Parts: sequence; structure tokens; C-alpha cells
Amino acid sequence: MKAAPFAYVRPSSLADAVGELASTDGGGKVIAGGQSLTPVLAMRLARPDTLVDINAVEELGALRTRGGVLEIGATVRQRRVEHDPISRGVPLLGLALPWVGHRELRSRGTVCGSLAHADPAAELPAVACCLDAEITVTGPAGVRTVPARRFFTGAMTTALGPDDILTALSLPIAGRGEGFGFAEIARRHGDFALAGVATRVRLREGGSPEATVTAFGVSDRPVTRDVSAELASVLAGPQDTAERIGESLPDVLSEAAGQLVDTDGDAHASRSYRRRLFRVLAGRELGKAYERARRSADEVST
Ligand SMILES: Cc1cc2nc3c(=O)[nH]c(=O)nc-3n(C[C@H](O)[C@H](O)[C@H](O)COP(=O)(O)OP(=O)(O)OC[C@H]3O[C@@H](n4cnc5c(N)ncnc54)[C@H](O)[C@@H]3O)c2cc1C
Repeated sequence: MKAAPFAYVRPSSLADAVGELASTDGGGKVIAGGQSLTPVLAMRLARPDTLVDINAVEELGALRTRGGVLEIGATVRQRRVEHDPISRGVPLLGLALPWVGHRELRSRGTVCGSLAHADPAAELPAVACCLDAEITVTGPAGVRTVPARRFFTGAMTTALGPDDILTALSLPIAGRGEGFGFAEIARRHGDFALAGVATRVRLREGGSPEATVTAFGVSDRPVTRDVSAELASVLAGPQDTAERIGESLPDVLSEAAGQLVDTDGDAHASRSYRRRLFRVLAGRELGKAYERARRSADEVST
């Protein structure tokens, strides 16, 4: 099939892009990398009357650090983030990006487009939620920021209004004593995940570690939970290794699995299989995150 006819505009300033979108009375759509939107148009799952191409808006192409965050503008390609040394400040991005589709798709697809598209099995929304990132949105009423954990409101649904443009994602730069993990299970590499996890562990001086897991592909949106108590319950002391934690944790993650994994089963996996995948992946990746956090703390203090 071919896309239904649409008008196409390519404004060169953010103000013009917002104006063009607002002038369509809800009938317009932003196009960034086009890797998700183009198939949607071709299958006529959406029939926007106007496409607002934001790629000529220079200010949306920035990839920079400021004030302790990595800021990724709306037209920054996933491949650029994957390879730019500036992204090393956010190690979870480096762990997650190779899992996003295929290299060719990442050459065009944008990080922000993936957030706006909000596929429940997508990797980057989970990264944003795990890190408690902030999303900047610009609309006719001005600029606002939305915490990533409140941005995703359902399957392919977000806090964006019809006239809003997602202008940037701000991710916290990792600090001393932080470690991360990421993994997913898909039928083939490049497919959307049956289940996946992003993890973060932060060591606190004199206290027990803070641990967070975000699961994706298991609900209608990425789902995040504090699992500090679960991690603390399996820690045994200096002999802790990623492998040992990865073996012990799945047994204590049953309650978390029951809460977080609520998707109906489908042709690829039942709900109970996804719960099992979650427990195993989360255990393993929390173990790795813990070990990396310890290494990060040691590196800075030696
Ligand atoms: C074969 C295939 C496999 C894929 N596998 C994966 C995968 O494993 N994991 C994964 O996460 N993704 C996957 N994708 C999707 C891909 O990563 C897309 O690049 C990404 O989801 C969307 O980014 P984009 O820049 O191409 O957005 P577009 O296609 O341009 O837009 C997607 C949607 O977001 C909206 N949008 C985009 N940018 C903005 C903005 N700045 N403000 C407001 N709305 C905006 C558009 O209106 C549209 O509704 C796959 C795609 C294909 C075709």
C-alpha cells in the first residue's frame, strides 16, 4: 500500500515548526527519522493531512552536556549518540543502543522519535525511565518538562498533545559509585523485545545500595520499580559477584515480576514466561550493575 496524500512542510525554526503543527488543528504529525512513521503511513494506520519535518531546525540537532545532564536534541540520530564520546557519561545508553533495531535504522532514527513513538517494547523509553530523565516539550503555550516516568501513558501514547514537539531528552550523567545493566530477549536480533530490563545501582557511603529496574515489553509502557530491598537481601559481603547475585536474585523478584509484568500473553510468549524472563534478566543485570558500581567507586577512590 501507499500512504494517503499529505502536505509536507520543512520549517527552519522551532517557532515555525510549532506554528505549522498548530495550524493543522490536530491533523498534522511531526516527522523526525521516519523509521516508524513511514511504515505507519504506508500501511495507512495513520493519515495525517500534513507532515511537519523538523530536520531543518538547527537548534534541535544539539548533543551536549550541561549542568550534569546529557541533552539530546530532537533530530539527533541514534547512531550519533552511540558513537559520540560525549555519550560515555551515560553508560546505560551505550549498553542499550546496540539493541535498537538494526544499524541502518539507527542511522536515521532519532532518540527522541523513539520516545514520541512510545512502543512498549522499545529500549530507549526504558533507559529514560530507569535514569529518571526529563523530557522537554515545546508547544503553542511554551516550553515544559515532563519526567520520563510520567511521559508514557499507555501503548504508543504519551503526554504529548497534538500540537506539541518533543524538543529534547535530558539524561543524568553517571556519578561515582553508579553501575548499570541492560539486556533483552527477542526472537531475532533487531526485533522488538519479548521482555527486557534496564538496571541502575548506586552505592551510598555507609548505607545499603539503591537499585532500580525498568522493564519493557511486559506492559503497555516501561515500568520502573525500586528494588533496593531485594538486592540488599541477597548481598553477602566482599565475596559478592555479578554471577552470584544473578543466581540468587531471581528467587526474590517474584513479587516485582507479578507487579510489573501485566501484559496479556501473545503468539510469542505467555505472561508467565515473560515473568520468568523478567526475573532472570533483572537478576543478572542487577548483578552486573552492582559489580560495575563497585568498580566505579574503587576507580575514583584509588
Ligand atoms: C524493521 C524495524 C525494526 C525496528 N526495531 C526497533 C527496535 O528493536 N527497538 C526500537 O526501539 N525501535 C525499533 N524500530 C523503530 C526505530 O527505532 C525508530 O527509529 C524509532 O522508533 C522512531 O524514531 P524516528 O526518528 O524514526 O521517528 P519517526 O518515525 O519520524 O516518528 C515516529 C513517531 O514519533 C513522532 N515524533 C517523532 N519525533 C517527534 C518529536 N520530536 N516530537 C513529537 N513527535 C515526534 C512522529 O509523529 C511519529 O508518530 C524499528 C523500526 C523498524 C522499521
